[in-house]
Amino acid sequence: MFDIKIDNVTKSYGATQVIPGLSLELAAGSFTVLLGPSGCGKSTLLRMIAGLEEVTTGAIFIDGADVTDNEPSERGIAMVFQSYALYPHMTVYNNMAYGLQIARMPKAEIDERVRKAAAILQLTDYLKRKPAELSGGQRQRVAIGRAIVRDPKVFLFDEPLSNLDAALRNQMRIELAQLHARLGATMIYVTHDQVEAMTMADTIVVLNKGCVEQTGAPLDLYNKP
Ligand code: ADP
Ligand code: ADP
Repeated sequence: MFDIKIDNVTKSYGATQVIPGLSLELAAGSFTVLLGPSGCGKSTLLRMIAGLEEVTTGAIFIDGADVTDNEPSERGIAMVFQSYALYPHMTVYNNMAYGLQIARMPKAEIDERVRKAAAILQLTDYLKRKPAELSGGQRQRVAIGRAIVRDPKVFLFDEPLSNLDAALRNQMRIELAQLHARLGATMIYVTHDQVEAMTMADTIVVLNKGCVEQTGAPLDLYNKP
């Protein structure tokens, strides 16, 4: 389990500053929801935490190490996006295995990890199917499976459920909460959906125009005037 420290980070795209200065500390093993309207900088912040985007000034530390000091594969971070970006020509098994194959992990270990993730996500019976033969919820589970097999200490979710219908979204929220309990990893979940934030988070961080507007447990925020 890794803690995350965001230390006075600013972010500009050209002359446009989208994050004017943000500091935040997230406890190891916590489930934090970043909540805020579209365009407030949630995805940008998440990508900077993942090391996919550079900070303009400031620094982000994961388990005490500056994210940019480690190679991406050594950061212990996995990200799940809204668009599943599965490989359409590959089976579910190979979609989950691919990243590990590229990293030249021994085949037996890949197999063990894929089967374990598939069992957790109830995908065992679908390993030989192609993404087009799956439901939306199953596809999103494959995308989550691709993250799980890497055994990350930090999971970053960028509105992963927004393409799903309401019933499925509810079900996946419960599954993600169970996944958090089971893996004990530090998780950050980005959404503009207040219900999602209330039901999933142990800490909610409300962002507005790149600034932290409020932070606290769901009930604390809910009870505030
Ligand atoms: P959110 O995830 O909260 O919807 P984003 O982090 O995607 O917000 O975007 C924050 C702001 O930064 C928006 O105004 C957006 O237009 C801008 N932005 C995001 N990515 C880029 C980029 N690559 N180049 C220029 N502006 C960007
Ligand atoms: P090879 O190419 O060496 O014959 P395979 O890719 O067929 O090896 O399979 C190696 C291992 O990966 C097998 O033990 C199998 O369990 C697993 N595997 C590969 N593809 C699939 C798949 N589509 N469904 C289930 N298991 C698979």
